[in-house]
Amino acid sequence: MIAEIIAVGTELLMGQVLNTNGQYLARRLSEAGVTLHHQTTVGDNPQRLEEAVRQALSRADVVITTGGLGPTADDITKELCARALDLPMEPNAEAEAMVRGWFVKNGRPMTDNNLRQAVFPRGARILPNGYGTAPGCIAEKDGKAVINLPGPPRELIPMYEQSVAPYLAARSGAHLVSRYLRIFGMGESQVESLTGDLMRESVNPTLAPYCSTGEVQLRLTMRCRTPEEAAPHLDRLEAQVRQRLGDVIYAVTDRPDDSMERAAVEALRAAGKTVATAESCTGGLIASRLVNVPGASQVFLQGHVTYANRAKESVLGVRHETLAGFGAVSRETALEMAEGLFERSGADICLSVTGIAGPDGGTPDKPVGLVWLGLCTARGARAQALHLTGNRERIRTLAALHGLHWILRAARGQDI
Ligand code: AMP
Ligand code: MG
Repeated sequence: MIAEIIAVGTELLMGQVLNTNGQYLARRLSEAGVTLHHQTTVGDNPQRLEEAVRQALSRADVVITTGGLGPTADDITKELCARALDLPMEPNAEAEAMVRGWFVKNGRPMTDNNLRQAVFPRGARILPNGYGTAPGCIAEKDGKAVINLPGPPRELIPMYEQSVAPYLAARSGAHLVSRYLRIFGMGESQVESLTGDLMRESVNPTLAPYCSTGEVQLRLTMRCRTPEEAAPHLDRLEAQVRQRLGDVIYAVTDRPDDSMERAAVEALRAAGKTVATAESCTGGLIASRLVNVPGASQVFLQGHVTYANRAKESVLGVRHETLAGFGAVSRETALEMAEGLFERSGADICLSVTGIAGPDGGTPDKPVGLVWLGLCTARGARAQALHLTGNRERIRTLAALHGLHWILRAARGQDI
């Protein structure tokens, strides 16, 4: 099955709004094993939009549009798609009930132009919109389908998940089951060189890499007739990957958006342990990422941003002589930050970070990118230097990621 995406809106062409819907849909289609050869962005212009839809229909089985479903005159996507499919537009009772229902539920008066949102191509399947007034639709003709989705991502994403993903799965007659291996401590090129043959040769399940700052994720996707068939095939491929990569795989999940902090919080919960943080150059990033995980309150006791030397002394009890003698970015300071936090917080796992994020402040001895991590638990304290590269934002992101990885390993009782 070949799909094509058309993002509609002059604001996209002018650079006022980033086309995140395009990225979202492309990612989800690729996960569903649907082939995508083209993506188009077009303004709110009838001729050019109709031309884009006709061209997309000439080369794809399914055309997905986003935007232009609203009640105003420039919202023309449905009409032009219907014209390209040669289907008449007509009022749809089911859609009208949804639109009226939305206004009643939200206590807002409805104006007549809102009823434009209840006019659809003949025979279209109406897609409910839980977060806005405009329903979407799927219109089919001669084996081709056009799917119209709203522009606002908070409306589009739930509509895609609830209505479009099942439609595409049913249409392709296959189930896709994915498993994600999360990797930390090995770069993208090394992962690829160790598993490249599996990526090229595995057909079903397939193996594909995704990279983000400091992490690599491998996706294993099995296409099958029933979801139950997938597990043994995925197990076999996972075992092959593990044999090549060893213990850099820190988590195996069935969700594409998992994270180091989720793994850390889960490991802390499983071990019945608590954590506290003392951050300097990361400025609370580690604490913030932990708090992003629902349920963090069970395991995260406290986080301090001790940026100035005085704060490291007064909040954590780092000795003045240590700071004067070794500097704020040093093994000694990282250790005393973690130890001081351990005495004061009562947490089982105490993590400290102190480093030079740049662009200024580096010296030949202590260059930009030098970051010390400290960890104190009942088993004692230790510290280690990281030598990170990149701009300030990247150095801080990587330092936080390393810190979260230490918390994860400590929670699992693994060596750091
Ligand atoms: P529309 O459905 O065309 O009225 O779009 C409503 C709003 O949705 C726009 O003003 C944008 O803020 C947002 N939007 C539309 N298209 C996109 C897109 N492709 N990606 C992200 N946001 C979008
Ligand atoms: Mg628009």
